Amino acid sequence: MKKEKKKLSLAVQIFIALVAAIIVGLLMVNHSDFATSYIKPFGTIFLNLVKFIVVPIVLFSIMSGIISMRDIKKVGSIGLKTVVFYLCTTAFAIIIGLAGGNVFKGLFPVVATTDLTYEAAEAVPFMDTIVNIFPSNFISPMVNANMLQIIVMALLFGFSIILIGERNQRIIDGVNTLNDVFMKCMEMILKLSPIGVFCLLCPVIAENGAKIIGSLAMVLLAAYICYFVHAVIVYSLSAKVLGGVSAVTFFKEMMPAIMFAFSSASSVGTLPINMECTEKLGVDREISSFVLPLGATINMDGTAIYQGVCAIFIASCFGIELTLPQMVTIVLTATLASIGTAGVPGAGMVMLAMVLTSVGLPVEGIALVAGVDRIFDMGRTTVNITGDACCSVVVSNLERKKEARKGSQK
Ligand code: ASP
Repeated sequence: MKKEKKKLSLAVQIFIALVAAIIVGLLMVNHSDFATSYIKPFGTIFLNLVKFIVVPIVLFSIMSGIISMRDIKKVGSIGLKTVVFYLCTTAFAIIIGLAGGNVFKGLFPVVATTDLTYEAAEAVPFMDTIVNIFPSNFISPMVNANMLQIIVMALLFGFSIILIGERNQRIIDGVNTLNDVFMKCMEMILKLSPIGVFCLLCPVIAENGAKIIGSLAMVLLAAYICYFVHAVIVYSLSAKVLGGVSAVTFFKEMMPAIMFAFSSASSVGTLPINMECTEKLGVDREISSFVLPLGATINMDGTAIYQGVCAIFIASCFGIELTLPQMVTIVLTATLASIGTAGVPGAGMVMLAMVLTSVGLPVEGIALVAGVDRIFDMGRTTVNITGDACCSVVVSNLERKKEARKGSQK
């Protein structure tokens, strides 16, 4: 009798890769050059492949979703629910970050602030962020992988296909077929994720291992506790109450995406795997294909938490006590700052400059946390993508209920 070979699921494979990366990374702390020169490039190849597929996946899956809805109003209703959910959860996140920062303040190290230098990138005015959502060129959104512009493009094309009426059958078939082709391509690339996760994470641990144990350990711990509290309270409750999915199921199905985000520190890079995970949670593809790419660019709860904790830490190093109105300003700025920031590694640190400036804290304070930014980033990206997924579960459930109500009224 032929023995059937039992295959480990992708989630288990990724988990093994993650643990292996941590162990090997720690063993290589004194040989981080080798890890950076010879292991990291394979991680980069994998991440490049994921980034390569993410643009056509977003473009075609949104178009295909809209075409199948055949309803422009429905897209508007999904969009509104999504944006409201994103803004509310981000505001919660920054409040948790500030509260956590204040609770842990007494334990933070006092690092000398003389000789600090940090060159902040010029802040983009808020109105420019809005203007930049709309593409002025047919090709550039795809070339620059600008997710918000790609979403606008996909919406315009999708609506146009619906509006040309009868003549659209051939293009509908074309879009759906291309969507299937890109999905297949993505599936092939994602099979490599265990290797990708190992090669991305191992050099980070080898490089940062010693730093984690260093003086910023308390600040990192504070941020990670807040990330955890936010995920457990806000996402578990929303998934259960608004999404109709238990917390255990939610986090269990999300594990592959969570581990991937942790290793890659890129929300955009995690998009394809996040789509797969949410599909397993019962989210309709037409909804996830719209809600997730939007979230990867505008919803950054983890980043907001990080900004709250770091603002308190930096202020305490400079001997500044933040007042309540200043904290309210941080909540508003951090919530707005999360819109228009790319879901790529390190983006949150650039935004921190904007938050610090808004309350008159010295921008060079960023230099205090810059050395371990990647460690903060792994956690914040994990929270960011979990928030996106939670939103898709909630919106999908609310839309389904709405349809059911409509159906029963007929
Ligand atoms: N790396 C984060 C993300 O991709 C953004 C950040 O740096 O906070 O979501």
